[in-house]
Amino acid sequence: MSDNIERILISHDQIQKRVTEIAKDITKDYKGKDLLLVGILRGAVVFLADLIRQIDIHICIDFMAVSSYGASTKSSGVVRILKDLDEEIKDRHVLLVEDIVDTGLTLRYLQKNLQTRNPASISICALLNKKCKQKVPISLKYCGFEIPDEFVVGYGLDFDEKYRNLNDICILNEESIQVS
Ligand code: IMP
Repeated sequence: MSDNIERILISHDQIQKRVTEIAKDITKDYKGKDLLLVGILRGAVVFLADLIRQIDIHICIDFMAVSSYGASTKSSGVVRILKDLDEEIKDRHVLLVEDIVDTGLTLRYLQKNLQTRNPASISICALLNKKCKQKVPISLKYCGFEIPDEFVVGYGLDFDEKYRNLNDICILNEESIQVS
């Protein structure tokens, strides 16, 4: 797998340091509140798993799954819910945990959808933000790193379901992102 990597964009150590900082902020901001963290499958799983273990208040977790790019590195802009929440969110504080914001279309759709269920609040925590690519403005309460317009893999992020198990956030070499 390491043959497919052009370079490391963000190392595991850098990620862990930032995750700890974000978790401290969440602990402070949501103290005394009923907080539900919603991980967006599948990319946010690794981030969520690290993040929740650094949060020092009682929390609940749930998951949603939405359609992804498949074997492509471009957003289709079409969002479909594949798995909905198991938890009720009425009057609860919801924090959507996402791996990466690209066009912003996925999060805008999810935020609008969940808003209709009357949560006490709904905010977003994203590990990565490709700010220059956003087609719709998305307000991130917590953001790990702003990154350039490069397709990245690792630490939960995939290309065609591969590379999620890389420890670092990496950029693939040219040959590895050719779709057959
Ligand atoms: P958006 O709707 O365009 O913001 O896309 C968000 C989703 O696209 C993310 O949750 C990822 O699943 C996927 N995605 C966007 N950029 C990348 C990338 O660079 N690497 C891997 N997945 C990506």
